[in-house]
Order: sequence, then C-alpha cells, then structure tokens
Amino acid sequence: MADILEKCRNWKDAKMAMRMGIYGYFQPIESAQAPEVMLNGKRFIMAGSNNYLGLANDPEMKKAAKEAVEKFGTGCAGSRLLNGNTIYHDRLEEQIARFKRKEAALIFAAGYQMNLGVVSALLKKGDYAIVDKLDHASILDGVKLSEGEMVRFKHNDMADLERVLAKIPEEAGKLIVVDGVFSMEGDICPLPEIVKLANKYGAKIIVDDAHATGILGKTGRGTCEHFGLENGEVDLVVGTCSKTFGTVGGFVAGDADIIHYLRHNARSQIFSAALPPVCVASISKALDLIENDTSRRDSLFAKTEKLKKGLSELGFNLGESETPILPVIIGSNENCFKMWKALNEMGIFVNPVVSPAVPPGRALIRVTLMATHTDEQVDKIIASFAAAGKALGLIK
Ligand code: PMP
Repeated sequence: MADILEKCRNWKDAKMAMRMGIYGYFQPIESAQAPEVMLNGKRFIMAGSNNYLGLANDPEMKKAAKEAVEKFGTGCAGSRLLNGNTIYHDRLEEQIARFKRKEAALIFAAGYQMNLGVVSALLKKGDYAIVDKLDHASILDGVKLSEGEMVRFKHNDMADLERVLAKIPEEAGKLIVVDGVFSMEGDICPLPEIVKLANKYGAKIIVDDAHATGILGKTGRGTCEHFGLENGEVDLVVGTCSKTFGTVGGFVAGDADIIHYLRHNARSQIFSAALPPVCVASISKALDLIENDTSRRDSLFAKTEKLKKGLSELGFNLGESETPILPVIIGSNENCFKMWKALNEMGIFVNPVVSPAVPPGRALIRVTLMATHTDEQVDKIIASFAAAGKALGLIK
C-alpha cells in the first residue's frame, strides 16, 4: 500500500543545502524589520525586506497599533460576516477606496488570501483567466481554485497577450490578471497596452499592486496612477498590506456592486477570521502617513538609485527594474547560493531566488532597501557586493 508521507521522508533538496551551509531561508531574525537586524547574535544590514518605507518599525505606527490593542485586544475571534467586524475595518475600507480612487474596497487577512478569494469568486464555468507567466503564485492558485480556465501569456509580451485573447471564444467571460510591479525583477506591466487589448477583446482587468502601492505614481497610489489610468480603465485594483504598509492584510478596490458581491462570495474572506484591529489600525496609520508625506518615498528612490548606480558600475546585471526591487542576476543556482553565503558572511542580509522560482540560468539575489537606510549602509552593501562578486569571479 502507498504511504502518503513517503515523499516527505524522501525529499532531500533543502537538507542537502543545509548540510553544505548554503541554505538561506527561514533565518531566525531577533529584531524588528529595520535597516539593521540581529541574526544569531550578529548585526546585519537588512537589504532584503519589503518594508519599503520603513513603516513596520515606525514610532507612529507602533503607537497606533498599541492603541488598537488596548481598545480591541489581540483578535476578533471570528469572521467579519458574523462577530469579527469592527468600526476600524469599515473605516479602513473607505480609506482604501478613496486612496485607490474606487467606489469601495474589501480587506482580507492576507494578500495571498485576497487573490485566492477574489479570483476564484469571479471565475465561473466557461470563464477564462488570462495571466502573465510571472504573475504571483496567489493569482495562479486563485484560478486553480476556481471553475474557470487559465491561459498564460509570455511575460509583459503584448503580441502574445493578443494571440491568447484572440483564441478564446468571443462569448466567454475574460479576466486579465497582472502584477503591477513584478515581485522578483521589479519591472512594471505595460498597463496602457493591456487596457487597449482588454477593450478590443471585451476582457476585464485586475492589477495586483502588492509592490506598487505606496511606491508608484506621484503620490504612491500605484500602477494606475503611474500610467494616468484612474478613470475606471482598470476594473479591480488589489494589493497587500505586508509590504509598504508594514503589517499584514490584503485588499481589493473597485465598483461598489463588485465589492458587495465579493464581500458575500469570496470564500477566503467569509470562512476565515477577521484581520485583527491591531493590523487594521496600522494599515490606516500607514495610509495617513503615505498620503500626507512623500519624503519616505523620495528617500527610498534616492537610496535605491545610489545602490543601482553602484552595482551596475561594478558590472552586475540588474535586469529591467524600474522600481525599488533590484534583481542582481547571477546565473546558476549554485553561484547564486555562493554569492548569498559570501554576502551573509559579510553581514549583508539578502534573498537568493533560484529556479524554479525564476527561469533556469536566471537565479538572482533580490535586493531591496528601505527609506530609512543610511548612505553609509548603502555604501557597505555596494562594497560587499564588490568583494563577493570578485572573489567568486562574477565581476572583474
Ligand atoms: N501578490 C503579489 C504580487 C505579491 O508579491 C505577494 C507577496 N509576495 C502577494 C500577492 C501576497 O501577499 P501577502 O504577503 O499579503 O500574502
């Protein structure tokens, strides 16, 4: 008889990397997400966090979180549909809708849950999801959970998107779902072209602004603001609160009727406990700070530009990034792990991203700064990349 657990016992991949001392995951950090973190009793420069604006450790954010804990305790003990909804949740949804220039919004316990819930609630039998090959896993998993079909187009390739759209039966429901900013290489989707093709083929659009919210656009409203497409060209804007907003949660914003439908049909929202008020209050505070002060964004972009210049002058390939996500493309998985280890030994915390998460031969070190990094810390990151890259023969 087959033993269903046998595959776990035979799975040696990560164990081998651990034995070789090149396993760069699940590291037990001993301090807050800040430009410097403590790890195994040692100080590291954190260059691999999505705490882009530094809000996860901001004094005003912590004050708002403490007040929420005092008032509401630590959790809601139930789904929002039943006992778990609070005035904070309702207020935050109004705030997100205003920020994203939409009629209404709905929050979830995480961005992953949001995509599962939104995409699976919208796609019914006979409908098609048209997704970029590099879309986030939560979008793909949402489609798998739905009754609809998934078709994929080559990354940011508009000719391929049109080829795919033209093949779908004309009468079928069509939903294009794209990341606004792609999470691994920091490139932006060509939204104006996507809107044109969606109109031509009668498709609706969801843009995932996980890495664009608080970052792209003059005032940080995201990909739609960046391209001047905030007049209903994009049907739903979704995102997470685990990056720029410095806490956890997910959201969808759109027309009131669609949000009303999702509120009562997105299963990952209904059958899961409400986001705790401590997170809701933190997101509200993050939005206040982002809307009223652009200095954090300006600082993040200035520091990122300095880092980008330093790394490209050293001869590293930084892909097509136009955002604070800097992919240092190394090549083989093996070299990527070696580079990670060398940087780790120099006290630099970065994330190794290897195939199958990226195409084979395109393994990369994903580097991201925070608005709160100092110029000296950026200099140290550049110097460490120089030393590690030279030692491994990756640069001259
Ligand atoms: N969408 C995208 C594009 C993401 O990058 C992520 C997080 N990596 C998510 C959704 C999921 O967000 P969360 O961390 O809130 O689950």
